[in-house]
Amino acid sequence: MSNATMHGLVYRGPRERTQIEEVAVPSPAAGQVLMKVGAVGVCGTDIHVWQGDNHQMEGPRILGHEFAGEVVALGAGVSEFRVGERVVSETASWVCGVCPYCRAGQYNVCPTRKGFGFGADGAMANYVLSRPAILHRIPDRVSMAHASMTEPGCVAYNAIFEKSRPRPADHAVVLGPGPIGLMCIAMLRIAGVGRISVIGLRRDGHRLDLAKTMGADDVLVADEMDAVKAVIDTGDGFGAHLVVDAVGVSKTLDQSLDMVRPNGQITKIGWGPAPVGFSLDRLIIKAATLQGSFSHLHGTWERVLALMGTGQLNVAPLVTEFDLHDWHEGFMAMEELTIPKAVLRPNGSVA
Ligand SMILES: [Zn+2]
Ligand SMILES: [Zn+2]
Repeated sequence: MSNATMHGLVYRGPRERTQIEEVAVPSPAAGQVLMKVGAVGVCGTDIHVWQGDNHQMEGPRILGHEFAGEVVALGAGVSEFRVGERVVSETASWVCGVCPYCRAGQYNVCPTRKGFGFGADGAMANYVLSRPAILHRIPDRVSMAHASMTEPGCVAYNAIFEKSRPRPADHAVVLGPGPIGLMCIAMLRIAGVGRISVIGLRRDGHRLDLAKTMGADDVLVADEMDAVKAVIDTGDGFGAHLVVDAVGVSKTLDQSLDMVRPNGQITKIGWGPAPVGFSLDRLIIKAATLQGSFSHLHGTWERVLALMGTGQLNVAPLVTEFDLHDWHEGFMAMEELTIPKAVLRPNGSVA
């Protein structure tokens, strides 16, 4: 395919400087795998890049890091996968392999990792290059569009099961009904907690309804009521066992410190550059745990795919599909919070 071309969504700068372009189909070097992209999710970070909020991002770069597809060509030396297999790819196109984190298997925090759609070309195109170490086979009953949701599923799985200790009968609170928050609700349901409260804003609109669909017991609208008080008034009055912050502004950490019960935990997935601007004394007085959660590892991907394969995790309510050429419509719908997740189909809706 050396002279073949394809369409890709190329970032050269914010807004109208990001467009579909005709680019060369990449060919797999030794150790690489060429994937025909079946589905690629639009992430909140793609929206931020497109809006011009990511100042490290340099174009030209094909966007897209949440993707599933079919193996169509193998570089020299690749024997782990066959042409025709349906796979999802993890998000680090390249890691150094020699830093202390890579050597310890914690490659998600490799300081020089190059992510798809950021440091390397991503999957909002007909084809993308990946590597066997980060590919996972898709269970038969899981569609390409649903498989492309594995990455946000892994972010939630990592936060709920690797970094938190949800127990049956616990009261858990999720701040922010975005795609990650909605996935966290599904994971907390799988964990068997007793009650799930979700806090959003009126502008979250349909996403508040989706929170119920994904398994929330109550949905609290913070700009219409005292959501913190509502959480504390639930149950024994001491607050929530686990608070998951999928928003990341200072205000939600402040609310989390009010809502968490003594010896409880706040797990923070959402992030933002603003200083917090308040005392952390409540964390100390309550002897609570404040835990960060970032990215995911190989085993998490296998588990999330298995959960989709058994039907325990149903991502269908979160997905709205668009042809790659209608990407702008999908980006706009996510920017306006009309839908939680646009999934682009670069090669039509086959498979
Ligand atoms: Zn993402
Ligand atoms: Zn490394």
